[in-house]
Amino acid sequence: MADAIEPAGVKFNLEYAPALESTSIVKIDAEYGLFIGGKFVEPKSGETFATVSPSTEETLARISSASAADVDRAVKAARKAQTEIWGPMSGRDRAKYLFRIARQLQERAREFAVLETIDGGKPIRESRDVDVPLAAAHFFYHAGWADKLEYAFPDRRIAPKGVVGQIIPWNFPLLMLAWKVAPALATGNTVVLKPAETTSLTALLFAQLLQDIDLPPGVVNIVTGAGATGSALVEHKDVDKLAFTGSTSVGKQIQRSAAARGVPLTLELGGKAAHIVFEDAALDQAVEGVINGIYFNQGHVCCAGSRLLVQESIAESFVDRLKNRLATVRVGNPLDKNTDVGAINSAEQLGRITELVAAGVAEGAELYQPECSLPDRGYWFRPTIFTNVQQSHRIAREEIFGPVLSVLTFRTPEEAVAKANDTQYGLSAGIWTEKGSKILWMANELDAGVVWANTFNQFDAASPFGGYKESGFGREGGLQGLAPYVSLSSPKRGSR
Ligand code: NAP
Ligand code: MG
Repeated sequence: MADAIEPAGVKFNLEYAPALESTSIVKIDAEYGLFIGGKFVEPKSGETFATVSPSTEETLARISSASAADVDRAVKAARKAQTEIWGPMSGRDRAKYLFRIARQLQERAREFAVLETIDGGKPIRESRDVDVPLAAAHFFYHAGWADKLEYAFPDRRIAPKGVVGQIIPWNFPLLMLAWKVAPALATGNTVVLKPAETTSLTALLFAQLLQDIDLPPGVVNIVTGAGATGSALVEHKDVDKLAFTGSTSVGKQIQRSAAARGVPLTLELGGKAAHIVFEDAALDQAVEGVINGIYFNQGHVCCAGSRLLVQESIAESFVDRLKNRLATVRVGNPLDKNTDVGAINSAEQLGRITELVAAGVAEGAELYQPECSLPDRGYWFRPTIFTNVQQSHRIAREEIFGPVLSVLTFRTPEEAVAKANDTQYGLSAGIWTEKGSKILWMANELDAGVVWANTFNQFDAASPFGGYKESGFGREGGLQGLAPYVSLSSPKRGSR
């Protein structure tokens, strides 16, 4: 704030006062069981693991680790519920349960948001304004479909797949749960869900919510644990469909296993999205979009705009604007409502980011990080801009999943498209220009499941989301997101 004009002898304090969200609304148990058949049960293995707050490194609770035998118990509970209760239930009645879930998520929104922030490290502003409202919206949206499936798939006979195994990551724990569970339930399937090891608490609070709304036992089962628990779910012989969101490497393993057994699968994997900023763009708006798209959730977003392709004629001034804006971004306590960039989700993830950033420096890119003090405890990474980046650099090719932006330049729209598409991924892209025809042309040329124009990271339950190439296949949300959860066949021809 050096630019403020201070009268002689007066010192302005232009820093924001802390605005901490209270944690008193959240009750965290010392230990959590597995949620199977509508109850919290002890794991057969007897094993538990700790979940920590990444902003303080404090242990929050011990979580049960589900073995293959526990996963089997959960699949059996889901099978029984599917064949006896949830499958035969009318769509109208299923919709009532989904509406109840949505309304409860709204009523308890603050509790879910605070818990998400404590356990995962993301800023409260994000969990409060994005994660929880979108999770509720997803259940509302799918409640609407539950009794209208014959309009979603006209002239077809529609049946649920059966028991669905779902595995989700740590970047949007409750929201990814909603993306998976809502369409599965709306279409008459039952669920066994494995949350990520570092962020199980909101899934377990969601299990308590399901008990409160009297969802029939076994319709949703939650098995916590590490990768081995996920693997046991993938390998289980009695799962009819799998859905996974996470890293491309684990996604590929799951794809091999599912393909060998002919189990239908949807995959939502990594990304290396490019913002493409043309010289005619509204530049201040573009700066906000770029900053928001990579820094505000610590870059823990699969569709994060981690590459910036900026037209050569404005490159220097645009990067200057970005650096100025980055200097005002607040990093720190995620429970503070002023915080823009929270904690990195785990020590392991911090290690991955640190390693890739070191590789960027070693390969010759130029690093910029604003001055900002970081808390002493917890996992933090300073927001970073790399300029002088080559297409061949690891930081331009690999998913960093941290608050790190790699800047490249282009001269013509054709070159921008070629560079944006020169990646193994194809999840999302952002175009910044005042010219509508350029937006439409680019949107056709880009290999990306989602293309935003003059905005970024906007979501709606009615809009399908998913990728091309190594970003996965299948869509979540919208009509397209219902399709993987149903089996369709030709209707019986009526007799004349
Ligand atoms: P990950 O290993 O793919 O984790 C995703 C989920 O899969 C977690 O629930 C994980 O459990 C589980 N899992 C791990 N190994 C498994 C296996 N062999 N079989 C079945 N399930 C398994 O991702 P990560 O290690 O947390 O993150 C690594 C990288 O993935 C990140 O740096 C980022 O690039 C990318 N990522 C992408 C997304 C996305 O939204 N596309 C989300 C998160 C991460 P555990 O939590 O216990 O490991
Ligand atoms: Mg945690």
